[in-house]
Amino acid sequence: MTAPFYLSVAIAAPIPKLFDYKPEAGQDMSRYQAGLRVSVPFGSRFLVGVITDIHQSPQIDPVKLKPIAQLLDHKPLLPVDIYQLGQWMSSYYHQPLGECMALLWPVLLRKGGDPKASTEIFLSPNPLTDEQLISLKRAPRQLDLHQYLQEHGGQWQKDLVQAGFTPSIINGLNHKGFLEKHHKASFQAIKGKCSQTPLTLNSEQQQAITHIKGADGFKAFLIDGVTGSGKTEVYLQAIAKHLEAGKQVLILVPEIGLTPQTVQRFAKRFDADILLMHSKLNDRERLDAWLMAAAHSTQSKLKRGQIVIGTRSSVFTPMPNLAMIIVDEEHDQSFKQQDGVRYHGRDIAVMRAKTLNIPIVMGSATPSLECLHNALAGKFQHIRLTQRAGDACMPELQFLNIKNQAVHHALADSLLEPITQTLEKGQQVLVFVNRRGYAPTLYCPDCAWIAECKRCDAKMTLHQKPAHLHCHHCDSKLSIPRNCPECLSTQIQAMGAGTERLENHLMNSFPYVPTIRIDRDSTQNKNSMEALLEPVHKGEPCIIVGTQMLAKGHHFPKVTLVIMVNVDSGFFSADYRAMEKTAQLILQVAGRAGREKDSGTAVIQTEFSDHPMLHLLKDENYHALSLAILDERKQQHLPPYGYQVLMRSDCHQPKEAEMFLHRVRQLLNQHQQFLHLPNISMIGPLPAPMELRAGRFRSQLWISAHNRKVLHHFIGVVLKDIYDIKGFHKVRWSLDIDPTDNM
Ligand code: ADP
Ligand code: ZN
Ligand code: ZN
Repeated sequence: MTAPFYLSVAIAAPIPKLFDYKPEAGQDMSRYQAGLRVSVPFGSRFLVGVITDIHQSPQIDPVKLKPIAQLLDHKPLLPVDIYQLGQWMSSYYHQPLGECMALLWPVLLRKGGDPKASTEIFLSPNPLTDEQLISLKRAPRQLDLHQYLQEHGGQWQKDLVQAGFTPSIINGLNHKGFLEKHHKASFQAIKGKCSQTPLTLNSEQQQAITHIKGADGFKAFLIDGVTGSGKTEVYLQAIAKHLEAGKQVLILVPEIGLTPQTVQRFAKRFDADILLMHSKLNDRERLDAWLMAAAHSTQSKLKRGQIVIGTRSSVFTPMPNLAMIIVDEEHDQSFKQQDGVRYHGRDIAVMRAKTLNIPIVMGSATPSLECLHNALAGKFQHIRLTQRAGDACMPELQFLNIKNQAVHHALADSLLEPITQTLEKGQQVLVFVNRRGYAPTLYCPDCAWIAECKRCDAKMTLHQKPAHLHCHHCDSKLSIPRNCPECLSTQIQAMGAGTERLENHLMNSFPYVPTIRIDRDSTQNKNSMEALLEPVHKGEPCIIVGTQMLAKGHHFPKVTLVIMVNVDSGFFSADYRAMEKTAQLILQVAGRAGREKDSGTAVIQTEFSDHPMLHLLKDENYHALSLAILDERKQQHLPPYGYQVLMRSDCHQPKEAEMFLHRVRQLLNQHQQFLHLPNISMIGPLPAPMELRAGRFRSQLWISAHNRKVLHHFIGVVLKDIYDIKGFHKVRWSLDIDPTDNM
């Protein structure tokens, strides 16, 4: 009789502890190990968790412990490096281990599903003898099928039916033993086929490659290269040797940066398999892709390199032969998760590279100040590409003061002429507006009523396709009133302009060319963006109107005029990062202009054309502006010179969320005094910039320190007491380590 033992299980619940369970009745200790998934009774439900430890000293009376319901795995599905990443996240982001572990799995595995790839029936033809061939001539359709299978090297059963072969033809041939039916994984990687030779690098690119190729083990690089400087070409040449050696490479891209154009560049360069991991995959496809990455082997006969290109969460993809990580557009906001465990995909990627002792290359035309700071401090190797590649030159930036200009539908009349000239030259125009919909709101000139959302401190956006009012913060929808709800006036009208309104205006002004609108509404379906962009890729004169979606990853050689109608909100925002974000946006959008031989211009409409930051951007460059902003941040001990934690809380009832944070603040004050930590400062509780959102009142508490270790120690100590606060069961709260957003 062996001594009783217990299993610690990490469960995705907002409780910062592990849960003890008994093993299944009569089972031996050797059956269990850390990393195995188990199904366990939890309250009135069953949840899937992960064993983290096997031990003999339970936290509570073992009589009260329940046995696990089921052991789901016999060997750990996560490789050690990924499992360790989960543990690291839990300690760094101060989140329950179970919640962090849950992020590591594709949804189907998180729910307890089997780690099996989906399969479909695949038919291959058997070779025929001459006699068999003659006999088959009596069944001509079966003969057709056999020939069809030979031509195609086999075929999926479902595709045969579509190609006109009925089940009876297939069965007939099968009965004669002339074909083989087997189950085959239905999910297939994109098969890259090298058909392009690498470009001849310019000297800056060449230097970049020399540095990156020289890396032996972990090393972080920041490629700080202007738009169109050929960063992607550098990535391509940097990963080549790893793919040729049959290894794996992980490429992280922003949420909307995964364009077919980008994928094609990789597919045409390497005889390697490409797996895409983005938000449009369904759970089944995601699991299949995940399994394929996890099963990659350098031992197989084929020994093909593999590239995983994915958005934020693909940083957790198991890749046993991972040799290099690339983070493209590292400054992009979408790398930061904004709910649950608020991790930063780029930071996790650096951590992963460190753990695996491999190089990581981050690239951007507008580096985040965090990365730039690391580069300037020598933690990352700083590689600058200051020129556009090939024959292209940088677009000229013009700031157009619209204070004394005639403006219609948000566009200065004086810009109609340059648009005409651009189109007449056979070139394309891109108009950026940071709002989708027809207009940011509906307004009554008689009584100044504005269409506001009842559930948020926000205006409702007016849409015309289809016509309705829509709150972009809580998704509430209303029909458009005929009269002002306050004074019954019939004069209510659109105020400001969004993509739909500009689209109308440009269609009316330039009826002889297509105007193409790209925003979240027009690109809801898979592939719709590419279909819409077809005239742009064909190079016909046209006008593109759109939101941020246009700022990333696109290469439109014929766009030579870029117009940004309004970026001014960045100048009076409460967010100290607003200036950084605005400069990044301006340069990324402007960077779509003149990317090949035709030179480009970017016109930015603004009421602040005298703003010193804009002058710096125009007369010097983003780098000069970044240094100026870094200097300000240093004076104020703001990140990256200080460290921050943002506590948020919200509740349906007013005041509750704030009262909760008052209680937290008291605890923080007590601990701070007790621990003698003078260099920690706190602000709040304060109402969030949008206090009411989706029917919940929101409050914030900022905690800052000059030293990261001190701050994390402090949070770690106080957190337990915060979880123990009683009497606020309707309040939701969260902790954001290194917040990037003050919302
Ligand atoms: P980035 O990723 O920095 O925006 P890209 O890699 O997309 O830049 O390059 C911009 C354009 O310049 C592309 O059309 C690319 O094919 C071209 N290009 C890149 N490097 C070179 C080079 N060394 N010689 C000629 N053209 C190049
Ligand atoms: Zn009114
Ligand atoms: Zn709302």
